[in-house]
Amino acid sequence: MKTILVAGGAGFIGSHLCDELIVQGNKVICMDNLSTGHKNNIKHLLKNKNFKFINHDVIKPFFIKEKIDQIYHLASRASPVDYQKFPVETALSNSIGTNNLVKLALKKNATLLFTSTSEAYGEPKEHPQKESYWGNVNPVGIRSCYDESKRFGEALLMAYHREKKADVKIVRIFNTYGPRLRPGDGRVISNFIRQALTNQPITIYGAGKQTRSFCYISDMVSGLIMMMNSNFVQPKNLGNPDEFTILELAQKVKQLTNSSSPLIFEKLPQDDPTKRQPDISSARKMLGWKPEVELDEGLRQTIEWFKLLPSIRNHNGN
Ligand code: UDP
Repeated sequence: MKTILVAGGAGFIGSHLCDELIVQGNKVICMDNLSTGHKNNIKHLLKNKNFKFINHDVIKPFFIKEKIDQIYHLASRASPVDYQKFPVETALSNSIGTNNLVKLALKKNATLLFTSTSEAYGEPKEHPQKESYWGNVNPVGIRSCYDESKRFGEALLMAYHREKKADVKIVRIFNTYGPRLRPGDGRVISNFIRQALTNQPITIYGAGKQTRSFCYISDMVSGLIMMMNSNFVQPKNLGNPDEFTILELAQKVKQLTNSSSPLIFEKLPQDDPTKRQPDISSARKMLGWKPEVELDEGLRQTIEWFKLLPSIRNHNGN
């Protein structure tokens, strides 16, 4: 039985990861400041003797008395709308937060896995994106609090690895979706499903020709665990390479929800990447990992979960 710290463990990906780590027989310490995470995501775990919740922000110093074998760092806002509202906090969770966690890893002799992002590639000039691509990021743009701090987090961990032999892993997560996405978090899948289920207009930014590649949550969780238990240090892309335009996604959500929502076109946000598709040949070959859940199936599961939310049932969509 391992003791595993999940920073950001009450969030969307973090809470699913906690679930799986508990099922696999581990002790889990979940640390979250509940900024975007929510107690509802972990309430079924709170009575489990192998699960402990600590309400704390990774930016602030902390001490953990238990032995720790592994640490996952998922403690960051990830929705562009969200992180642009809290740019300082976002930049610090991926820099100071990462520094706090790697120091803890060194003290406890633990492995630290840092969740970086496909946004490290910025507006990519290579398509699909391989890990060897250095990216094309606006260092002072409105997304930079997120993408540059994730890039710094990667650089910081490589520095600790080279200088102090810290045991680190880096994954670059591409757009991920599933139950527990916050309906109001502003990201495309939560917006479209919420809008479709409440028969409000589906808001496509720009002409909807930009592309994204969406990975279902269960696939992401298995990839994270496989990476943690591997010998690889260098960044690995985790995502589903099936690429869709945002217009295609809107049409799919509308059809799967039987919605009467009109599709409307709004202004494209600044620095919005035009395309994004992971090259996952490295994760396939080195980890033996590949996504299993196709978009239609994953959307169906996510839509069923959204339908149960009081805000959707009451049709106010908050
Ligand atoms: N998007 C959209 N309508 C929305 C929300 C997002 O058309 O209501 C677009 C957004 O401009 C971007 C894509 O969907 O091109 C994915 O946006 P998201 O915020 O989910 O994440 P990103 O991949 O940009 O980090």
